[in-house]
Amino acid sequence: METKILPVSEESIQEAARLLQQGQLVGIPTETVYGLGANAFDEAAVRSIFAAKGRPADNPLIVHVAHPEDAEPLCEVTDTARLLMKTFCPGPLTMLMKRKSCIPDVVTAGLPSVALRIPSHPAAHRLLEVCGLPVAAPSANTSGKPSPTTAKHVLDDLHGKLPLILDGGECQVGLESTVIDLTSPIPTVLRPGGVTPEMLLTVLKEVKVADSVLRPLREGEKALSPGMRYRHYAPSGQLTMVKGTPEHVEQCIRRHADEAQRQGKPVRVFAFEEHLNAYQGLDAVSIGSRKTPEKMAHLLFKLLRQADDDRIPVLFSEVLTTDGIGLAIMNRLARAAAFTEIDADSEAERNP
Ligand code: AMP
Ligand code: MG
Repeated sequence: METKILPVSEESIQEAARLLQQGQLVGIPTETVYGLGANAFDEAAVRSIFAAKGRPADNPLIVHVAHPEDAEPLCEVTDTARLLMKTFCPGPLTMLMKRKSCIPDVVTAGLPSVALRIPSHPAAHRLLEVCGLPVAAPSANTSGKPSPTTAKHVLDDLHGKLPLILDGGECQVGLESTVIDLTSPIPTVLRPGGVTPEMLLTVLKEVKVADSVLRPLREGEKALSPGMRYRHYAPSGQLTMVKGTPEHVEQCIRRHADEAQRQGKPVRVFAFEEHLNAYQGLDAVSIGSRKTPEKMAHLLFKLLRQADDDRIPVLFSEVLTTDGIGLAIMNRLARAAAFTEIDADSEAERNP
């Protein structure tokens, strides 16, 4: 199958809507990452999403709708959900609610809940309105790879597996949506994203954050959100997070980079704008200023993919604190690094 990329226009959106109605897949720009969409009511179409991505069948999909009222036929919308929709939707927030029987099992991997989101990207919104269907869409990448934030990323992974990708430019947030479970007694963030726990607490009395957000699952531990079980967001190279005081971080990265380069392995460093100068002589790229973490969120997946394109086997990254959007960034970075981290302060003590 030939894969077309068309810039977003009323005409290309009409074509995308027709394809969705015919049971085909479409690459869709959203404010978080690009989605791989299909008619959520069409079991065969939804199955083809799993096939195209190589996604395990037990990892459920998010269902996208245009308006809050479109959620009512699909799931049991609670008062809390209505409040969150009023405050944060359209936007990067996915809510887990008890599903109704019209949602096929293949969408929810047989779970009793369905994940629902109302995207704010004008092209995604218009497409949902024109096709008049709920659209099941995970991120439009090959399973395990960093999520796509440009139409080209989608093409790189899924060329020949879908007829059309709508090109809406770079995704604004750059990380997947916040997933909040509204079926548990206390609303619980299973995956952090653009709507932060701090923002949720401005309208909810209590919010829990699943404690597995910043650590690997323990042996035998059940993932609350099946997606958190799998290796994710990973570049082909080995990424290591380096924490500590800026001076120690720089010395530590230099020491490890020298060693890798002695073994003939190219190294790249992801550094905050403020420290970029400290890495002279090394291949260091900016992840934006420490003061604008949303810039790092926007850049992260693109930089991970770029490192793959440039065949860089060894990567080091400076780290952020976990407040605000920092929690979502560190959740993705930790998984991309398979939780490999060096404490530069302790290393400096051992190697004075
Ligand atoms: P993606 O669409 O690729 O960003 O992944 C969607 C995320 O939402 C994955 O981590 C899924 O496991 C999670 N998810 C979707 N539906 C459910 C559900 N019913 N219960 C728990 N997690 C879900
Ligand atoms: Mg995904």
